[in-house]
Amino acid sequence: MAGRPEESHWQERAAWLKAELNRHSHAYYVLDNPSIPDAEYDKMFRELVELEQAHPDLVTSDSPTQRVGGQPLPQFEQVRHAIPMLSLNNAFGEDDIVSFDRRVREGLGETGEVAYSAELKFDGLAISLRYENGRLVQAATRGDGTTGENVTANIRTVRAVPLRLHTDNPPAVLDVRGEVLMFKGDFARLNERQREAGQKEFANPRNAAAGSLRQLDPRITAQRTLRFFAYGIGVLEGAEIPHSHSALLDWYASLGLPVCRERTVAKGARGLLDFFHDIGEKRRGLAYDIDGVVYKVDRLELQQKLGFVSRAPRFAIAHKFPAEEAMTVVQDIGVQV
Ligand code: NAD
Repeated sequence: MAGRPEESHWQERAAWLKAELNRHSHAYYVLDNPSIPDAEYDKMFRELVELEQAHPDLVTSDSPTQRVGGQPLPQFEQVRHAIPMLSLNNAFGEDDIVSFDRRVREGLGETGEVAYSAELKFDGLAISLRYENGRLVQAATRGDGTTGENVTANIRTVRAVPLRLHTDNPPAVLDVRGEVLMFKGDFARLNERQREAGQKEFANPRNAAAGSLRQLDPRITAQRTLRFFAYGIGVLEGAEIPHSHSALLDWYASLGLPVCRERTVAKGARGLLDFFHDIGEKRRGLAYDIDGVVYKVDRLELQQKLGFVSRAPRFAIAHKFPAEEAMTVVQDIGVQV
């Protein structure tokens, strides 16, 4: 039958991409020991997404395009997220942003410009912090998005994370979501100490942050300087949720949670691209690594209207920096890839 050989070629290519991506994903998320540069991983991932879009019958439940992150390590107690922790769809060029904005406007039936919260895409690992009546009671990694690892004892050693919210009237339950990361200076000092002690150096700050947080001995985590930026929310009980994402971040800052100042509310695709260029210029001077920026429809009511597709929200997108820059950053810190 006509078309058969071509079809088996796509199937073979998709199967190969799935196997390769799953192997690299395990090294990256579970072992904290990446086997290829992120840009190469992203390229293969994108090829698989495109193949699956063109041939939807190639989508299988074990495809990395259907999953978030990696499996939790068996040694940690497991935590089920009441609201899943998802990933973000990636955009690499201006056209992708124009299309994203168009999809959002079409989804909302909006003829005017949409307001977006534009923020940084921190290169660390996602965490969910549960506060009950203002006190930190649990911290869990994202894991596979549904089940993460209980790293409460480790998070308690992170000075940037408040153990108690700064308010007399705290919500009954608040899941603060954000990123744990290591600043570049702290990373350089850590690797210097590792070198002096004859121990293995970390490949990059993200890797060092993940390795430091996912330690079975919290005393080791306590010796590493980790930071935290809040950027999202899970369960909220006993308080009104702010109307917009930008107002949520302002509220977090008032509760004593670290929120990054490099953010804005931008309108339309033009506003998003201006923010991207502005941050691109500032990137080198930042104290921490970022691998792009993130745009989220600002009004939460509109976010709900847009909803989610398999592993990511429709109302948000990560706009990644070009691959060459990503590679230069890796080389800057003297790591062979
Ligand atoms: P992602 O990194 O593309 O985006 C989602 C994550 O972004 C969130 O979970 C959160 O941790 C983070 N984030 C940072 N700032 C944020 C903000 N302001 N708002 C919301 N989220 C924010 O998705 P992912 O699924 O974690 O990982 C995929 C990426 O990991 C790939 O793009 C690739 O670069 C890298 N990766 C690399 C390898 C490798 O072998 N080198 C393997 C697997 C994954």
